[in-house]
Amino acid sequence: MMDKLIKEAREFVQSQVMPVVHQNPTRFQRTPDQYGFKVGFETGERVKGKEIVVAVREQLRIEKRVSLYAHMPVCSRRCRYCHYPVVVGGDVGRFVEGLMREANLLLEQVPEVRDKMVTSLYIGGGTPTLMSIAQIQKLLRYFREHFRLVDNVEITFEGSPEGWTPEKVECAKLAGVTRASVGVQVLDDVYLKWLGRQDTVAQAIDTVKRLISADFRSVNVDLIYGFPRQSVEKFAEDVQSVATLRPTNITLYRLRLGRGDLNSQLSRYYQQHPDEFPSQVETYVMQIVGRRILEHSGYVEGPIGWYSKPGFQPRVYQDRWIEQVSLIGFGWCAYSYGKTYEYHNAESISRYFAALDQGQLPIEHGWLYNQKEQQSRQFVFRRKALVKELNEVEKVLVEEEI
Ligand code: SF4
Repeated sequence: MMDKLIKEAREFVQSQVMPVVHQNPTRFQRTPDQYGFKVGFETGERVKGKEIVVAVREQLRIEKRVSLYAHMPVCSRRCRYCHYPVVVGGDVGRFVEGLMREANLLLEQVPEVRDKMVTSLYIGGGTPTLMSIAQIQKLLRYFREHFRLVDNVEITFEGSPEGWTPEKVECAKLAGVTRASVGVQVLDDVYLKWLGRQDTVAQAIDTVKRLISADFRSVNVDLIYGFPRQSVEKFAEDVQSVATLRPTNITLYRLRLGRGDLNSQLSRYYQQHPDEFPSQVETYVMQIVGRRILEHSGYVEGPIGWYSKPGFQPRVYQDRWIEQVSLIGFGWCAYSYGKTYEYHNAESISRYFAALDQGQLPIEHGWLYNQKEQQSRQFVFRRKALVKELNEVEKVLVEEEI
């Protein structure tokens, strides 16, 4: 059954998808670093922080809602595939304080944000489960007290399998987290070790079961495809195993090796061993096979790669992708955007905290979009989100676009 599915997916990619790729090389053909990707659009007019603040204020005057993101960049070790800005063994407390200091500055310098309804708050990382119980309680209390979180706000909290201890699960529940997310990535102990992960398959499965039985409104499990030597068959097996656990959400990410100047260790590995990585065709096959398994298990896709049980589509994706409300990101290296702009916080930790010490928002630079750029950006976001409107070939290719 699985062999047939994989064979059909491979034939479909070769006969239907790759001809489109070859006809549109600038759009779909991956660069020599075929696992690279861009975050955001980074088009438009590049400007400094002060001009961005003016644009944010203008935009928020006409919006009713915002989506918030808080970045906890500390990890206990760096995974081999990680291209995120993280600090191994960093001072978690300092970053928690930094988030609240930055949010205070925003409330002061962008007062328009104060009366905006917050429908989704996302605590991501890094590894937010490295926060102590007291820090989790303090941070979530802070957001409740200082922002207008709606009654049924969705609060997502990310964590690692070994980080979601019974105590942290209980604390997150009590603090109001509604959506618990866990990065499982692959189900193979030897491979997890090679990737630099500290957790085991048994731990990951126990954690997913623990989160489900804790009765969060939703539980998300992340898996990644495209690792070196990862076969379509093994990936399919992992997807099936996770689907059997019945979390409300499963997210399938394609492996990306870098963004901007941030490259993972795997990116160097790729330079030396490109043949070990699944080809573009094979990653498309993985995407299709993952889709078929999850659809067959009753999950619905939207946006591309994010699968939910019916009725459990995360609010955060509705906010960010479909309705495209402004996203305000807090933290070192955080990224924010609205319809007319996008901006990035300081890329150096010392500059991030120096800005806070001087009473300034740590915005380093950003881009302002003209009307045409705004429309094309909105179009791409919506294309990725409105999966039902895409045909099978578009579903495969739209994932390349952002
Ligand atoms: S992949 Fe996740 S857990 Fe691993 S180092 Fe990066 S942010 Fe931390």
